[in-house]
Amino acid sequence: MATECLNQLPFDTKQRQAFRRRLLAWYGKHSRELAWRRTRDPYRVWLSEIMLQQTTVAMATPYFDRFAAAFPTVQDLAAADESLILRMWEGLGYYRRARAMHAAARAIVAEYAGKFPQDVAALMQLPGVGRYTAGAIASFAFDHPAPIVEANTLRVFARLTGYRRDVTKGPGQRHLWAVAEELVPQNGAGRFNHALMELGALVCKPADPHCDRCPVFMHCQAFRLNLQQKIPVLAAKPKITPIRAAAVVVKRNGAFLLRQCPAEERWAGLWDFPRFDLREKASGQELNAQIIGNVRDQTGIVVQPGPIFKTLKHGVTRYRITLDCFTAKRVSGRLRSTADRPVRWTPVSELATLPLSVTGRKIANLVAGG
Ligand code: SF4
Repeated sequence: MATECLNQLPFDTKQRQAFRRRLLAWYGKHSRELAWRRTRDPYRVWLSEIMLQQTTVAMATPYFDRFAAAFPTVQDLAAADESLILRMWEGLGYYRRARAMHAAARAIVAEYAGKFPQDVAALMQLPGVGRYTAGAIASFAFDHPAPIVEANTLRVFARLTGYRRDVTKGPGQRHLWAVAEELVPQNGAGRFNHALMELGALVCKPADPHCDRCPVFMHCQAFRLNLQQKIPVLAAKPKITPIRAAAVVVKRNGAFLLRQCPAEERWAGLWDFPRFDLREKASGQELNAQIIGNVRDQTGIVVQPGPIFKTLKHGVTRYRITLDCFTAKRVSGRLRSTADRPVRWTPVSELATLPLSVTGRKIANLVAGG
């Protein structure tokens, strides 16, 4: 691929106006009916944008409906128990985002009397709110002329301007934000940003853009140079690392041994069966010793390991995890539970109310009836 890059922004005033007109006319005919587009409530805009950063529209929609019904206002979210918030978020992943939303809701109630700040700089002071989320709230809820760059608009901007360097690096990001700033109109920014995102989602798709149906193809450098398949340039994905892990189900008098993951762990705030990484080839006595040592360290309980009753395979970021699920019997020891590392015997009836990771929920469903 040639290394030449088009660093000049290619739109003069007339072209910008023509681009906006064509895009908005297309959006008027082709936009999808999505629940969060019917509102300008900044709380619902915020919620939908956080959810859509990590999943598809199809998966986000039922989560959005349930979450907005459980916590209809930012005050309700601020006042909610974190466990309940995580239970409602369960299955979406990126749980630290839900925890950050909780912290941000509290800040909005405490510092802004429950009213969202309207400008990007103030929004970006809130926990978990980056430039994209701030731009989305400012433009969708308040119609401020705030630019946005996210997965869909990133692709559109890179192709429109024929940008042939890595868009994830600093210069690439600066280029994309500069294009976004140049294109966003002073009036009607919310609708314009929605239209750009919709163009990326429905037409300017990652693998197979539908340039033959694109309303702005005449403005597009990638189309002119036939480089749609090579743009955007993204940093190579990190290599997948395999990991072997164990989850241990200990049952006593109809209750299961669970711990709440502490702040420094991946599933902070969620409850889980004792779980830990295993040395790749451990077996026999060495494997038993690892199980006994880790369960004791995490809970205070000494166990006698039993057999594997299920193996689950799942991916987390760049890790491919093989999770062996063991049963084990309590032999001795007492719960070692502290305020920041709670451990408890949990009756079967309470499993449904606690937030668990996806694999934790699968294990709970497997053992709850046994
Ligand atoms: Fe994307 Fe093709 Fe439209 Fe260019 S012409 S913006 S590559 S769909």
